[in-house]
Amino acid sequence: MDQIGVETPKSPWGSVAPAAPACSLTEVMSEQLANQLTEEDSAFPILADPAADLLLSEDVSDTTSDLMLAKMLQLQFDHEFDDQLRREEKKFNGDSKVSISFENYRMVHPYEDCDSSEDEVDWQDTRDDPYKADKPQTTPRKGFSGKGKNITTKHDAEICGRKNTARMDNFAPEVHVGDGLGMDLKLSNQVFNSLKQHCYSEQRRSARLHEKKEHSTAEQAVDPRTRLLMYKMVNAGVLENINGCISTGKESVVFHADGGSLEEQPVPSEVVLKVFKTTLNEFKNRDRYIKDDYRFIDRFSKLNPRKIIRLWAEKEMHNLTRMKKAEIPCPEVVLLKKHILVMSFIGKDHIPAPKLKDVKLGSEDMKNAFYQVLHMMQQMYQECNLVHADLSEYNMLWHEGKVWLIDVSQSIEPRHPHALEFLFRDCRNVSTFFQKRGVSEAMSVYELFNTVSGMNIPIPPDEDEAEFIAEIMAYEKRNEDHVQRRGKKTFPVSSEDGDPPLIPDSDD
Ligand code: ADP
Ligand code: MG
Repeated sequence: MDQIGVETPKSPWGSVAPAAPACSLTEVMSEQLANQLTEEDSAFPILADPAADLLLSEDVSDTTSDLMLAKMLQLQFDHEFDDQLRREEKKFNGDSKVSISFENYRMVHPYEDCDSSEDEVDWQDTRDDPYKADKPQTTPRKGFSGKGKNITTKHDAEICGRKNTARMDNFAPEVHVGDGLGMDLKLSNQVFNSLKQHCYSEQRRSARLHEKKEHSTAEQAVDPRTRLLMYKMVNAGVLENINGCISTGKESVVFHADGGSLEEQPVPSEVVLKVFKTTLNEFKNRDRYIKDDYRFIDRFSKLNPRKIIRLWAEKEMHNLTRMKKAEIPCPEVVLLKKHILVMSFIGKDHIPAPKLKDVKLGSEDMKNAFYQVLHMMQQMYQECNLVHADLSEYNMLWHEGKVWLIDVSQSIEPRHPHALEFLFRDCRNVSTFFQKRGVSEAMSVYELFNTVSGMNIPIPPDEDEAEFIAEIMAYEKRNEDHVQRRGKKTFPVSSEDGDPPLIPDSDD
């Protein structure tokens, strides 16, 4: 809200908005902040009906909140300002080979060109730091300066001592050097060098500590809007507490939280919040998973980028619900709020179940794990009408003596034009993993593919993978033509979890 009343700067050289104060996860959980936010945002509805609150009601609650509204207006303003700046920059530089960047004057972080980052101005261009210290004056390389009688060598204690004292000003700002010059302090080279050494190692230590802290809270990954949403969940009693980050991936950050209660629906005592990152960069390449998914095709074309990210969360929710129905071991959905999906925690006492890649299993357990995965792949394809599309030992957890499937935001239906290629890739990962772990029963990728899909693509001589994939693609092409001939309306677009029919094999 702080900048709403600010006049639109007339030139790109206008004042840059002050950075929003950093807010840590601890602050999110703080009582004082909670009270403050409650006052500012008392309009947040208690989630009496979780289903109704899913997805669609969010815009309503947004606009009833003054704070949100102010932030959204501010964001719009910032974007318009940046657009104008970009035009000015272009005009200014023209075709010149040497160009001047206006980046420092942009309101929105250049790498977060998405409207969630309104408060993140912690980015700074370090190329031109006005506070950077001057290089300390040193004795010339030859080891002395001056001429004849006035020659001064680097060993001149008095002069060098004073110089050393002056050079202390170049230490990091956290090092309090005092007024050495004022009291005519002279530091010997030896003392100066060890002070310098100490100062450097302190700097490195503090950088490491800072890095650790950042990673532990994943602060950099959660923008203020997300923090507010997370707080709202605590405030509404859905969550008791948000404990910390389990994983920071390219596309999501996963937090552990203690479940609270949600009317008519018990919240598991341990849950995770999967926060889909609201920066678009990582999602750019994933279009093809969703834009051809018939369930979302109509909506995809109409949405702005931020809403597309919410679709990922929504997709994961729908896919998990289908899997639960088929009794596949997977997290249970608790709540979806914009780009945050709350689901049950696979693990115990805050310790997440290990990924299959990290767990050491005996040969019997490994063999069982393979058969479980095979069965789950079949169930997913045949009962849930889904292809995982990112199945590997990284997205399977080992918990209570069985394999659990996670990470299904990109899972698609078999009628997706590339579904079978994704299925083949899943099969390759699974087959390779279990064969490497010495499971002699593990099928080859080709057998696995045919067993899961129920198709009967001939295994080429010499097991030529390219030939097999070409066969798969030809099949997909026939299906695509078939869909086009019949028109996509013949396939119900489901936003529910009803299971649309499989494409019949082929009518050619
Ligand atoms: P990404 O798309 O970032 O890979 P995932 O859904 O795979 O997202 O989650 C990342 C990591 O978080 C997983 O590898 C797993 O260790 C942990 N994780 C995710 N969901 C759960 C869950 N429900 N219970 C326990 N750990 C989870
Ligand atoms: Mg994953």
